[in-house]
Amino acid sequence: MRVRVLGSAAGGGFPQWNCACPNCSRLRAGDLHLKARTQAQVMVCLDARECYLFNASPDLRNQILSTPHLNPSHSPRHTPIAGIILTSADVDSVAGLLSLREFQPLHIYATQAVRRIVLEENRMFRVLERANPPVCWHDVAVNDWFPLGTRASIDESSIRCQMVPLGTAFPDYVSNDLRHQLPSVEAVVGLLIAQGKKQMFYAPALPGLSNEWKKWALSSDVCLLDGTFWDNRELISTGVGSKTAREIGHLPLSGAGGLLQEFDSQKQGRKILIHINNTNPILDEDSREHREVRDAGWEIAYDGMEFDL
Ligand SMILES: [Zn+2]
Repeated sequence: MRVRVLGSAAGGGFPQWNCACPNCSRLRAGDLHLKARTQAQVMVCLDARECYLFNASPDLRNQILSTPHLNPSHSPRHTPIAGIILTSADVDSVAGLLSLREFQPLHIYATQAVRRIVLEENRMFRVLERANPPVCWHDVAVNDWFPLGTRASIDESSIRCQMVPLGTAFPDYVSNDLRHQLPSVEAVVGLLIAQGKKQMFYAPALPGLSNEWKKWALSSDVCLLDGTFWDNRELISTGVGSKTAREIGHLPLSGAGGLLQEFDSQKQGRKILIHINNTNPILDEDSREHREVRDAGWEIAYDGMEFDL
């Protein structure tokens, strides 16, 4: 299968419309050491006709339009996008679903908790039901493999997925009423996708509250992991926020217990950072932090990155 990174930045993108942090300001001024990035969006294509999106970013419409592979191939309406797999109900994960509302039948895979938040707390998303046949939601149980699309079962050659609980909280906007009804293991998941012996692990938000994710990251040929923040106090030190990285569900890259230290493996496969916040110094290709990440064997995702799994 072909993996395509349509967007590699965290929420807000890079540059962020209202942000004058050093990175955003330098990018606007034309500094060639920094590359613009849209909000995190990954897609896997099983073949030319069947693609699956990991989440639906707020930039999804433009990401589709700038990817010729996703052009409709016949009239009146068509898309190679067969489905969307959601890893959380965060705005950054689901807002793009509204861009897919043009009467297009699709499959959406999510935990039951995420589906309920999207459809019960945000009734606007019921607009997807206007498609004929309506968008088909699949309630996915965590820690169990499931087949994609119309495949009824999993065999050696088929594509299989698994949602791995990452142990964190529901989005702030969820009402207390609903929150109390939902199991927290369904709040934010990592995603395993595999075919034959090849496996990829996707976790754009890694709170690092348990070590379960490491088992999956170590056993995967490719990991796309949370590169949101370099430093735990990055939002505070750049003056754009009051919470630490860990408080908002992201293991920072640097420092004791940070991702670089926690995943300092002799791993053979590729390890790629994605969901990079605009304040993160690794975005500056001339920075010490960028070099440190590269020296530790990490790649840094960019919009347009592609590889085969
Ligand atoms: Zn910024």
